[in-house]
Amino acid sequence: MALLNIAEPGQSPLPHQTKRAIGIDLGTTNSLVAAMQAGRAAILLDEQGVAMLPSVVNYTDAQMPLVGSGALALAVRHPADTLMSVKRFMGRGNRDAAGDAQRSHYELAEDEEGLVRFNTSSGERSPIEASADILRVLHQRALATLGSDIDGAVITVPAYFDEPQRQATKDAATLAGLRVLRLMNEPTAAAVAYGLDAAEHGVIAVYDLGGGTFDISILRLHKGVFEVLATGGDTALGGDDFDAALADWALRDIGSPSLAPGQYRQLQAAARAAKELLSNEAAVDLDLSGVLPSGGTIRVTREVFENLVQPLIKRTLVACRRCMRDAELDASIDNIIMVGGSTRVPLVREAVADFFQRPPLQGIDPDQVVALGAAIQADILVGNRPEGDLLLLDVIPLSLGIETMGGLVEKIVPRNTTIPVSRAQEFTTYKDGQTALAVHIVQGEREMVNDCRSLAHFELRGIPSMVAGAARIKVIFQVDADGLLNVSACEETTGSQANITVKPSFGLTDDQITTMLQASFSHAGGDKIARQLAEQRLAGWQLLEGLKSALTADGETLLSAEDRAAITAPMTELQALLEGQDADAIRTLTEHLGRQSETFANLRMDKSIREALAGVSLDTLDDEVLQ
Ligand code: ADP
Ligand code: MG
Repeated sequence: MALLNIAEPGQSPLPHQTKRAIGIDLGTTNSLVAAMQAGRAAILLDEQGVAMLPSVVNYTDAQMPLVGSGALALAVRHPADTLMSVKRFMGRGNRDAAGDAQRSHYELAEDEEGLVRFNTSSGERSPIEASADILRVLHQRALATLGSDIDGAVITVPAYFDEPQRQATKDAATLAGLRVLRLMNEPTAAAVAYGLDAAEHGVIAVYDLGGGTFDISILRLHKGVFEVLATGGDTALGGDDFDAALADWALRDIGSPSLAPGQYRQLQAAARAAKELLSNEAAVDLDLSGVLPSGGTIRVTREVFENLVQPLIKRTLVACRRCMRDAELDASIDNIIMVGGSTRVPLVREAVADFFQRPPLQGIDPDQVVALGAAIQADILVGNRPEGDLLLLDVIPLSLGIETMGGLVEKIVPRNTTIPVSRAQEFTTYKDGQTALAVHIVQGEREMVNDCRSLAHFELRGIPSMVAGAARIKVIFQVDADGLLNVSACEETTGSQANITVKPSFGLTDDQITTMLQASFSHAGGDKIARQLAEQRLAGWQLLEGLKSALTADGETLLSAEDRAAITAPMTELQALLEGQDADAIRTLTEHLGRQSETFANLRMDKSIREALAGVSLDTLDDEVLQ
């Protein structure tokens, strides 16, 4: 008889126990959860075998919120209790959200910070709570399918989501009991699902037409780093508008009878069903039962439907053109990815292929591609592929800095810096005997505080009374892997300290980000030259300082003598240049050195994440990797 193996007490019987990680696409209309199964990313289904969970929550019953199609069914009877499209309200203030609220007829309240809350018959609910209820259902589904605890999750967000919107998403996940490994941009997730991160370089356009929103993103991949070159779109354009166009046409066809709101909703649902069938068939019958007392059907051909939606599709292409312009591409697009249920409409695919002059990638279901990419990334982050794939890095979309005397902005973390990152800078007092310092954190590309967005204020007290300029105050900006910012200030002689995690009250819309970026480009010049020198010096100095401590920590173990020399030689040269006035030379050399040390940075990042996952918590990541 064969002997059975028994593990030592307290030890796992499996040699390499894999961890359970999931990817979640928390969509405006629909949400999905995916995980690696038998070596491939797969969507997890509910008990009925359904993949998509409508992102709808009903709060009529205070004890038990209903999520998904059950909630959707109550939308007609309990409109104010049935929250749809809550993603539009995440991390946003009442002021920003007023238009969306009107469209969706919600009764809004607001919290102390001015953030949106919904009035329901079970009391007030925040968009974060509603999103948490959706995430909880997906979490449960994952537990039921995977049959064990979930070690971590990657949640996707639109590329244009700003700090408060990302923070809100993370809070929702935490409320739902999930450990967030990382937030990931939706277009990046789609690119990963197609395996495009395996290439060295590439420019990728991601065309995402969902239920209520259209997003276009241009990404550039460079050695495992996805940079978002530009984002654009229309936050009020999607498959719902296709349904409305078809419903209105049907209404005209039956002689425009006046319909009660319930009947109109029924007509829209029928139009949606007909639309979805038309993606595969040349003609279908639109069902009028529940719309007209007599019931019946109307015949709709694909041609009629295409004529109705043609102008809507054109609007998406106008946004694509603008986004391509913003991206200032010097190379052509290598790949186009289709995301979102509405890209199933054949005319949408044709129009996009025509616009970009090449066929889009479409091997993966457009509803599922984002969740699948998130699952792949989650699997890597949780540590299941220690030898394999490199980690993807993201960049911050807008520069972060603080206000200095004269209302000027000192940028501390420049736009497009890869995250996580930690940057420090020293400041000093302005007046003799000054014992407190007001730190004002701003976001944006402009030189003056008034032209940037204010994120947060805090004060550092207890500075010993000294002459102006004598105190040494170190301000440290840390941006974690999700793009969330923590700022601390410390007076070096006394060690007095203050810090803040930035969680500002109002979110930015994608339009606002675009406007801020455009404004900064058009106002360039003027005071720029002196500033440029200062900035180049600072960048050079920061890189040097970073590399020095990185080399001390890991230079011997991770690099060969030859590779080390390739970094230290230009370092010495840069050190000398920093004394001079030649901004261009400093920039060129800093960039060169940056490229020279990129592989080293990636090696350190991998090492540190492996170490972190081996025991330490992910939170210590920033401190370990960066300096
Ligand atoms: P979101 O990202 O906003 O959550 P989805 O990507 O799930 O949205 O897309 C939902 C939209 O896709 C709906 O308008 C739905 O009607 C549409 N859709 C789904 N399947 C089809 C299909 N076969 N043909 C046309 N539209 C479809
Ligand atoms: Mg989507």
